Amino acid sequence: MDQATALKTVPRGARPPLVAERFRFIQPTLPDLDRLLALYRPAFRSGMITNADLVASLEAAVAERLGVKHCVAVSSCTSGLMLVLRALGVTGRVIVPSFTFFATGHAVLWNALEPVFADCLADAWTIDPASAGKRIAPDVAAILGVHLYGNPCRVDELETLARRHGLKLIFDAAHAFGSLYRGRPVGGFGDAEVFSLSPTKLLVAGEGGLVTTNDQTLARRLRAGRNYGDPGDYDPELVGLNARMSEFQAALALAGLEMIDGKLARHNRIAAMYTRRLEGGAGLGFQHVSPLDRSTYKDYSVHIDAASFGMSRDEAAERLRADNIETRKYFDPPLHRQKLYAGFHRPDREPLLVTDDIARGILSLPIYESLGDDTVEKVALAIRRLEEGE
Ligand SMILES: *Cc1c(COP(=O)(O)O)cnc(C)c1O
Repeated sequence: MDQATALKTVPRGARPPLVAERFRFIQPTLPDLDRLLALYRPAFRSGMITNADLVASLEAAVAERLGVKHCVAVSSCTSGLMLVLRALGVTGRVIVPSFTFFATGHAVLWNALEPVFADCLADAWTIDPASAGKRIAPDVAAILGVHLYGNPCRVDELETLARRHGLKLIFDAAHAFGSLYRGRPVGGFGDAEVFSLSPTKLLVAGEGGLVTTNDQTLARRLRAGRNYGDPGDYDPELVGLNARMSEFQAALALAGLEMIDGKLARHNRIAAMYTRRLEGGAGLGFQHVSPLDRSTYKDYSVHIDAASFGMSRDEAAERLRADNIETRKYFDPPLHRQKLYAGFHRPDREPLLVTDDIARGILSLPIYESLGDDTVEKVALAIRRLEEGE
């Protein structure tokens, strides 16, 4: 019997699970309810419960924190991305990484645009500027990068590429509220950046999105766009949506802003613990974050190379579950292997070899503010045991 078979035949429950009880994979830290109600009460009393003073306060606070001229609050990151593409007048094809959440691609398809998939970098796992450069063609109008898990894209190279070819540059910054690129806050790069405030992200409003831009015309069109396209004279200037943010969501986000630095620090500390405990393990790969940048570590994933680790990612996930440790696989399958998107993939001319390799081995570990050091240690230990064949 080879070793792998021997391991599989150890009866379940032969040793007690490393973590005694199943714990949540994700658990948002929410603000104090009294603090939230204190913020929300005036809006409630006034009867102005959507897109009013609290939304304006949130937009001002975010613009100031990120050092960007305009912030437009919307109902979600998805609607924000849809509106940005529409308001910028993008037509034709849009270069996107395949290694992302499908909402990135949906914003493209909803605008009847076509995605062109770029490969990701083997170390940073964000869109590879060289691969994006190879996809540029006369009908390509924009690049939509994603700051994956909060790791900033190679912004400088993408900006150069976009400028040289007259392309719009947009960032899906769903994961990146609090990220720094070369010391500057994510939010001010490209034509626009779009954040998500859904419960799995760091800044939480229940639902919600934020578009940041230094382009005044774009900001104006987005304000109309989130309100059916109506600039205020009942004569819509674009086919907009109802993508307004409610005052309650804005109150949650404002209360969340007061706690965001603590969350960022905790996510970074957990990520550092995982890396320290797992580094050097055979078959384990890690996302490289430049020492010049800061990631939010919205997610923390390792890459498992089945041959050198001794088992596949899926088998590892199953074994971890037996230890009461839940994992995810963000983002496998990548877009070009999903049925909505497979038709846009041209494997012969535009291979996505790095994306295929990274996605196949990706394993996302629990990371959130209230996750204790002891649990982080146990998760890391469980993975080391698998790798060592124990
Ligand atoms: C969560 C997420 C979105 C969608 O955000 P919503 O606010 O839920 O619309 C978009 N892109 C990425 C990369 C995400 O992770």
